[in-house]
Amino acid sequence: MKQIYQRPMLAASLALAFLAPSAHALTFVLHDVSAGGMSAQQLAAFQTAANYWSGKLSDPVTIYLDIGFNNLGQNILGSTSSTFAITDYNNIHNALLADASSALDNTAMAHMQSGPALKFWATQGDGSSRFDNDGSANNIYLGMTTANAKAMGFGIGTSIASPDASIVFANAYAGDFVYTRAGGIPSDKVDFITVAQHEIGHALGFTSGVDDIDYCMAPRNGAACGISNTADRFEGDWWYEPLDLFRYSAAGVADVRVGGTPYFSVDGGVTSIAPFSTGTEHGNGWQASHFGPNQVNLMRPFVGDGEWYDASNKDLAAMDAIGWDLTSPVPEPGTWAMLLAGLGLLGWTSRRRRHTSHPA
Ligand SMILES: [Zn+2]
Repeated sequence: MKQIYQRPMLAASLALAFLAPSAHALTFVLHDVSAGGMSAQQLAAFQTAANYWSGKLSDPVTIYLDIGFNNLGQNILGSTSSTFAITDYNNIHNALLADASSALDNTAMAHMQSGPALKFWATQGDGSSRFDNDGSANNIYLGMTTANAKAMGFGIGTSIASPDASIVFANAYAGDFVYTRAGGIPSDKVDFITVAQHEIGHALGFTSGVDDIDYCMAPRNGAACGISNTADRFEGDWWYEPLDLFRYSAAGVADVRVGGTPYFSVDGGVTSIAPFSTGTEHGNGWQASHFGPNQVNLMRPFVGDGEWYDASNKDLAAMDAIGWDLTSPVPEPGTWAMLLAGLGLLGWTSRRRRHTSHPA
């Protein structure tokens, strides 16, 4: 088994069910687990972020989120820990096929690998890379956030007591956040709603196993991740996630290596929708569970002071590809303008802590 992080003990618990369940909408049940409780203003801002996703995604599923403020690392605004469900690629492939409802889905499904074992370029335990087509567990099994699994139609038994994800915001920045967009974002403030929408995006499945490879590869000793300290240390277990099915570095080149120049593609690598980030330690310095830093997307790895944004068509395309249904389809990738943007002032991250569970 590789790294399994324990959920921290949670102090005060207060169930806050904000949304009446609806038969045809994405519903969030929010549970404030902050020691002192979030303020009404903070809760309202998080609710705005949750409502945003409910308006963009139509899957009739309920997602349980623990939310709150706690201490995080330096320059980290928010952090999301998701529960993961593990199954084999064939199951996921079949679920995505059954769930396909958009033109983008159809393009994506036409370019999926046949399975049962995925073939891809992968980073090895010793830091080398190779075309990994040997049919080991890492080729066959994938981990999904339970929220993502629900979007694909898997029956997943989460609850307030056993949530899909836990989203934590930094105590250190509680006073630097602005909790409403009314009147604009002051130039010395961080938009909490943007950060909350971003973190929910991770919970919904915008994550990459490449981050775990980046963390657990040499020179770190494999034992630090609870695995053997061998060059093939990544072969015997699952590492990758649904978004990694759309990670390419050239036409026909599926690529889950740390570093390099991978991008999000739904047509087998022919068209790059957006570059991915490639790893904190051995990549571009940003977690691979993000788009690249230089385009304005909700799922880029940072938000700057004075900025706010919602999901771009590229963010939404990623959600569509991994099994969510969009309330409004996104345009064809070829029509999207490249939006190059500037400066990141503060990092954010989805420090990933795995909680494994078993799909029904
Ligand atoms: Zn993030």
